[in-house]
Parts: sequence; C-alpha cells; structure tokens
Amino acid sequence: MATEVYTHEDFANHVTPPGHPERVARIEAVWKALDDIDGLDRRTAPVAERAEILRVHPEAYIAWIEAAIPTSDYVSLDADTHVSPGSLDAALRAAGGNVAAIDAVVAGTVSNAFVAARPPGHHAERQTAMGFCLFGNVSIAAKRALDHHGLTRVAIVDFDVHHGNGTQDLLWDEARTLYISSHQMPLYPGTGAPHETGAHDNIINAPLAPLTGGPEMRRLYERELLPALDDFRPELVLISAGFDAHADDPLANLNWLADDFAWLTERLCDAADAHADGRVVSTLEGGYDLNALGESVAAHVRVLRERAR
Ligand SMILES: [Zn+2]
Repeated sequence: MATEVYTHEDFANHVTPPGHPERVARIEAVWKALDDIDGLDRRTAPVAERAEILRVHPEAYIAWIEAAIPTSDYVSLDADTHVSPGSLDAALRAAGGNVAAIDAVVAGTVSNAFVAARPPGHHAERQTAMGFCLFGNVSIAAKRALDHHGLTRVAIVDFDVHHGNGTQDLLWDEARTLYISSHQMPLYPGTGAPHETGAHDNIINAPLAPLTGGPEMRRLYERELLPALDDFRPELVLISAGFDAHADDPLANLNWLADDFAWLTERLCDAADAHADGRVVSTLEGGYDLNALGESVAAHVRVLRERAR
C-alpha cells in the first residue's frame, strides 16, 4: 500500500521576513526530497473547517490571527512569529491536511500518511502564536481522531529538537492522549522538564543535553520512551516530525543524522504495528538546514513507505 502525502502549493505563500529560518525554501526542499520517493500517493491538503481548530483554540484567537493578516509585507505576532498575506490559508491547510490524513488513516484507506506543511504547529498555545507556529496542527489531528472518530488512546511522539510547549498546553488535561517529547535542554522555549507530566500523567518530557548524538538518543528511546509508548497501547501514533535535531541544524546543538531519524521512525512504526494496525500520521515541524532537512525527511518518509500496509 502507499503512503499518502498531504501538501499544497499554498505552503509556499506563507512568507517570512528575509533571513528568517522558517522560510519558503524549507517546503521546497521537502517537496524535492519527496519527488525522489516512489509509491507516494499525493493528496491536496484542504482548508480546515473552523470547528476542527475550535477543538483546541478559542474563537477569539482564530479571529485575532485572521485580523492580523496583512494585505502586503509582514506583521509580527511575536519576536519570531510573522504573518504575510498568504499565511492564513497556509495555516488553515496545515491544520486541514492533518485532519484529512487522520480521516484517511482511521478509515483504513492507507495505514500511514505524512503532512508536508508549514507553518509548523507544536509551539502554538491555546491563545498564543509563538515559535513560528499559528495553529496546533498535531493536537488538532489528535482531537479529530478522538472526538470525531471515537478513538480513546492517541499517542503523539515529538522528536523535534525543541519542546512542543504548544502541544503540551493543548493536551495538558487530555487523558486520552499520551504526549512524548524528546528535546534539547536548555533551548527555546524553555519548557519540557521531566516534572511537567500533564493533569493525568499523560505527558512525558525527556530533555537531552546539548551535543547528544544518535546512539544516546536510541538508548533513551529504547530504555524509557518506547516502553512507555507500548504500555499506553495507542490506537493511533502521531508524529511531530521536526528534523532540527540533525547535527547540521543551525538552531540547535544535537548531533543526530538522517539514519537516526530512519531508526526512530522504524521503532514508532513497530509500536503502531503492535497496537494500532500500523496507523501513523506524521506532520512536519522544524528543520532549518535545507540539505539536512531534505535528507532527513526522505529517510523518514522512505520508512513510512516501506512500512505502509
Ligand atoms: Zn524545532
């Protein structure tokens, strides 16, 4: 079976100021990497229905984002989060691509999917745009699986080098989810300490020291994080797939390589095979060195493709 890839040309219309790391060239590098992989089923990422976003963000926040969108140039929502005329459509399609991927995977038309989208989502809190993120894409996906499809155990594994403070905020009191994050500490945004465990022990934060390489990452996952994922017995595995833990990434200091992302993807597919009929939805978060991003996305999606059933 194929792996579905949800994307849209509008992801290149979310334009950030010159020199900003979360730039249009990122999605172009991802598209180029995906072009070299056979057996992908390309799908259009649709605009999310408002009701989907309202599961995690209040109406006033969505209205504030809409009102902030300029007719030209940029508007800054915080020190590093900016919007341009094309940003709203891109953000709505990033969320909508995730919803569509959930629908396809839960329906069983495919076992796994990758959402190649920007802006990313895991830093967006309930009422706060930050860290290049507007809407909590992976949390919107989880809520779709829970509230629309009636699943009861959805796991989110976030291997982006930054802590997903937004996902943690949006799912803090959601007992039907397990959020597992590995991330460099100290690093932006500063959250993600092990004692932040959620309202129902539904959050596991695993900080990594600067310079942590692939072997140490693999040991951490094998000893602590993958057993916790198995214990949860997820009916669906979601991945916040940031590739900025790569050694070449300019925004952080971990030393993972493309093979490490492939290894971790294999292990997450193992857990999905054991508990969830192989169901995996992965969504793009960070990754700011274009070559490392392309190579790592290719390694990740190749594994999804090989494991699709
Ligand atoms: Zn990141």
